[in-house]
Amino acid sequence: MPRLLLLLPTTTYRAEAFLEAAQRLSLDVTVGTERGPALAELQPSTVLALDFRHVEDSVRKTVEFSRSHPINAVIGVDDHTAVLAAHISGALGLPHNSVASVSAASNKYRMRTLLRQQGVPVPHFTVFLIDGDPETFGGQVAYPCVVKPLILSASCGVIRANDDQEFVDAFRRVAALIMRLGLAEREDGGRQILAEDFVPGKEVALEGLLTDGELRVLALFDKPDPLDGPFFEETIYVTPSRLSARVQQDIVACAAKAANALGLREGPVHGELRVNDRGIWVIEVAARSIGGRCSETLRFAADISLEELLLRHALRMDIPSFERQGHAAGVMMLPIPYGGILSEVRGQAEARAVEGIEELTIMTQPGQELVPLPEGTRYLGFLVAHGESPETVEASLREAHRRLDVVISVVQTGGPGHETQASKPHVVTF
Ligand code: ADP
Repeated sequence: MPRLLLLLPTTTYRAEAFLEAAQRLSLDVTVGTERGPALAELQPSTVLALDFRHVEDSVRKTVEFSRSHPINAVIGVDDHTAVLAAHISGALGLPHNSVASVSAASNKYRMRTLLRQQGVPVPHFTVFLIDGDPETFGGQVAYPCVVKPLILSASCGVIRANDDQEFVDAFRRVAALIMRLGLAEREDGGRQILAEDFVPGKEVALEGLLTDGELRVLALFDKPDPLDGPFFEETIYVTPSRLSARVQQDIVACAAKAANALGLREGPVHGELRVNDRGIWVIEVAARSIGGRCSETLRFAADISLEELLLRHALRMDIPSFERQGHAAGVMMLPIPYGGILSEVRGQAEARAVEGIEELTIMTQPGQELVPLPEGTRYLGFLVAHGESPETVEASLREAHRRLDVVISVVQTGGPGHETQASKPHVVTF
């Protein structure tokens, strides 16, 4: 059986879907994980303990491991592990994207620079060191602008600023977040913050697959809720897109050009693009598949999941069809109304009973902390719907969401050294 090395960060929503797909294909799976060597000792062929921060070491360990357990494909499920996957694939002689291209896709400054050089429309941007004084940066940014870290994802630390004061506040907030997450030591962009023009318009997400540099579109999602900031919490994604065929073609052409400009040639591509009366703008192109539980919306011929399709592609196995099955589909990433401790989510049965709703998953357990954007890194949960048309799917998602009540104990912190107290639970009704 072919062996897959799946690089799983300690917090990911993607493990289950990839493992299920690997099982369907009867692959031998080895999970590359940072979860400690004890697990690896217990199951030496199925768990490989790696420290993802140390690339050379991880590559050396994997090459050694592959001598007794030959590896046929390496998959990273997020931006960071995708870079490591490229390093390892290179060392093992497997088809892969160049390390430079995947690294560029996971560093927003490098990405912007390459895209601009190759004539792909991107907003005007400037990069600053995190320990600089934002009060002195005046005149270097135009408003409204968007301030963001270089190496985070899922809109974490992405903040719109409309004037000098908001810029200074946003910059300090992003710098503090980078420090708190321990990213400032990362050499691949941890010490920098990007500020770029805010691009108004409708946003879409494109899920694609590259083979030998050719982009095949697997799905194009509309994001019907406006994303105008100050924070950019993703909510609804619906496919197929309701934009005109002409605009969709332009989006695909722009995404293909962007992937090419970064030097990406193989495997999944996830793009976020904006459309306005000045054309199509690339917000980002990542060398990985869609995050969270969003891939649940996608099924291909023979009931193949997105993850199975990606594994088949990586292993050069037959892919019966790239056509998406079914009519319309959508997902809602449940917004976190405000920070606190989750007590419960009421109305789940009622939400599941809405026609078209296929799945409701609450990812946060009662007692766990909910942190809203821009600092939050986790979702409250996901709703997945299928239906006859994008309109019905969107309506199902909104109705199911309306039926949910989130009960949150508000956390009050009195500053450093003070007790954290939980107040009486607040019920947030949508
Ligand atoms: P991440 O990788 O964390 O998702 P992005 O750069 O893709 O970071 O930004 C997250 C979201 O913030 C985007 O999907 C978009 O809605 C919004 N956003 C980011 N940059 C801009 C911009 N320059 N103009 C308008 N919206 C933006």
